[in-house]
Amino acid sequence: MFPFLSHFIFFSFLLFLSRPCFPARILPDKSTVITVASHNATWHEFMKFLDAGRGSHVSGMSELKTYFNRFGYLPISSNDTNFTDTFDTQFESAVILYQKNLGLPLTGKLDTDTISSIMSPRCGMSDSVTNTSHGFHTDRRYAYFSGKPRWVNLTPMTLTYAFSPSDMIDYLSSSEIRMVFERAFSRWASVIPVNFTETGNYLSADIRIGFYRGDHGDGEPFDGVLGVLAHAFSPQNGRLHLDEAETWAVDFNTVKSKVAVDLESVATHEIGHVLGLAHTSVKEAVMYPSLSPRTKKVDLKIDDVEGVQALYGSNPNFKFSSLLESENSSNHAPIGLERTFSSWTISLTMVFLLLFLHR
Ligand SMILES: [Zn+2]
Ligand SMILES: [Zn+2]
Repeated sequence: MFPFLSHFIFFSFLLFLSRPCFPARILPDKSTVITVASHNATWHEFMKFLDAGRGSHVSGMSELKTYFNRFGYLPISSNDTNFTDTFDTQFESAVILYQKNLGLPLTGKLDTDTISSIMSPRCGMSDSVTNTSHGFHTDRRYAYFSGKPRWVNLTPMTLTYAFSPSDMIDYLSSSEIRMVFERAFSRWASVIPVNFTETGNYLSADIRIGFYRGDHGDGEPFDGVLGVLAHAFSPQNGRLHLDEAETWAVDFNTVKSKVAVDLESVATHEIGHVLGLAHTSVKEAVMYPSLSPRTKKVDLKIDDVEGVQALYGSNPNFKFSSLLESENSSNHAPIGLERTFSSWTISLTMVFLLLFLHR
């Protein structure tokens, strides 16, 4: 009787230990590792600013300030034309705003998460947003460009798109690129009452797509491998430009480069800008500003859909419930189930082992 009782206590204790501990609140990995895909990649030198905070003085900090200025976080004051290498209070505010916009812990320091995010390849569009139109719904994170511009057309709306006849890449076939963009456009078309059709007339197309290298005449020069990957202009401009210097990939199984970038993920993101969405602070959303190399992120999330539908309305065939279901099943259930299953397996194995040893 007594050994049985001790087994029972052991069993209960182990079950208690093995309870899945609030699967929805999985703690972030504390030991974030900064990975630099290539030593030649743009911004890899920013690593030297790790752990800098207010009062720090590090040679070259002015370049990091230029980065913050470029993406809308640090204005150049009228009486000061050059940034200094000192981490002053104005820069601290810029860092905090950056951390807020990128959904990072608000430390005001160039901690591991922040430096890692800064060094990540990203979209060239600024994060500065003056019109979020969120009202009191602070849980929503999507944003618009200043003045909330959108395409204005007849209903149902059709936007045409075309590829540049001269500015393309030759290592991907034209049909591969076309298929990628067709899929990217169809994702947005499935949630809003807007159709996208390809046209051969580049000059008259609403949306004009091309690959460009360095300074290409629109005041937003590209910077080589990684760094800025692409940019697009707000409505109703329609220009969508990709950095020709990237290793654009359609299938990571066939492209082994460490700096390969998924064309479809970037296309989907840039089309969001073409439609009028600015950057979101929701990391999982397509409209988040950065994208790691060799990463695919093509499915629109609730944040993306709510943002674009507030501009154009909903596609009559779109059901929010199906998106909620797919987002829940892809984000939460497998993790929770996996954790539950593994911890139960371990505890049951231990119980059987203890029962065996007690005999
Ligand atoms: Zn962007
Ligand atoms: Zn451009």
